[in-house]
Amino acid sequence: MNTKVFPVTKRNLATNTPVKIAVAMGDGIGPEIMKATLKVLTAAGANIEPEFIELGEKVYLSGNTSGISEHAWNAINSNKIIFKAPITTPQGKGYKSLNVTLRKSLGLFANVRPVNALHPYVPTNFPNMDVVIIRENEEDLYAGIEHRQTQDVYQCLKLITRPGCERIVRYAFEYAKVYGRKKVTCMVKDNIMKITDGLFHKVFDEIALEYPEIKSKTQIIDIGSARLAAKPENYDVIVTANLYGDIISDIAAEIGGSVGMCGSANIGKNVAMFEAIHGSAPDISGQGIANPSGLMNAAVAMLAHIGQPEIADKVKNAWLVTLEQGYHTADIYKEGVSLKKTNTQEFAEKVIENL
Ligand code: NAD
Repeated sequence: MNTKVFPVTKRNLATNTPVKIAVAMGDGIGPEIMKATLKVLTAAGANIEPEFIELGEKVYLSGNTSGISEHAWNAINSNKIIFKAPITTPQGKGYKSLNVTLRKSLGLFANVRPVNALHPYVPTNFPNMDVVIIRENEEDLYAGIEHRQTQDVYQCLKLITRPGCERIVRYAFEYAKVYGRKKVTCMVKDNIMKITDGLFHKVFDEIALEYPEIKSKTQIIDIGSARLAAKPENYDVIVTANLYGDIISDIAAEIGGSVGMCGSANIGKNVAMFEAIHGSAPDISGQGIANPSGLMNAAVAMLAHIGQPEIADKVKNAWLVTLEQGYHTADIYKEGVSLKKTNTQEFAEKVIENL
């Protein structure tokens, strides 16, 4: 199986020295799924040396308003690889999203989110779904330019740059080329945002000409997301702006089985960060029932990225066998298909047995 989903961009692959990675346990279900995943990585023989860092809620509550401790910044800057569990960000108030801060300050411009169906082991209505969503990760409405104009008027600015569009669109086509993908679909709303989304579309058309062997198509995001939800098997690689990519990747993951199943890579020139696509799931936090699959898939991508593809394959295969055997966490459990409803730790133990 090809687990080389993300390009190896750094690391001396010749040495046996463990690769140091900055590991953030996260908030909510974060510590539960991270512990389970690290256990699997250790059992699989991953040649990594975690350096634990504090990020998020606890750091804010200790009075550090950036949410990232100095030690964390140092570890990130020296290790250049971050393995991160989800972090809580308050809705509609409070501190700025740390995820956005990390992605922007580290130049993690591409957010790569593969979603593929594992039917019939994880039942879905879309057994042939195999899509990779490549989300621009630094610009758009996530640029953080938001303010109050008057008592009743609030503004959030959408920021789109030509270099940003070129970088992400080229990344999507290169990704398609390297992984033998046949088609890249661009999703924008340039019938309304003619200048900003219009630029994204224009750059897409320009760069597509450099890849004549790969089909290219542009869809308006509203019908694009509807079609993705109805016929995901028609999509291969999708490239889109930050907010649209955030939304459609959750839709894709959920219709593929569960939002708890998918991992993602945030790729920059010098640093890469690997995480699940979902959040800290406060509604189930502390119960030990969360699905660790998203973070395990992120770990697989990280292992491939740092030049340990054999271990990546080993973990991915053991994970697949576990799902095939029917050991399913509550989010994907289905009477008549699943063998046993497992909790987070039991699932990890089954994966370890299958290594
Ligand atoms: P969420 O993804 O945390 O949860 C949405 C739903 O999916 C919940 O019902 C949850 O129980 C379920 N779910 C998510 N992951 C699961 C898993 N692994 N196993 C089983 N079920 C799972 O989204 P939300 O509730 O909107 O956000 C909660 C917090 O997470 C917010 O503070 C948000 O800002 C943050 N968040 C962080 C990240 C990140 O760190 N990258 C990403 C998204 C959201």
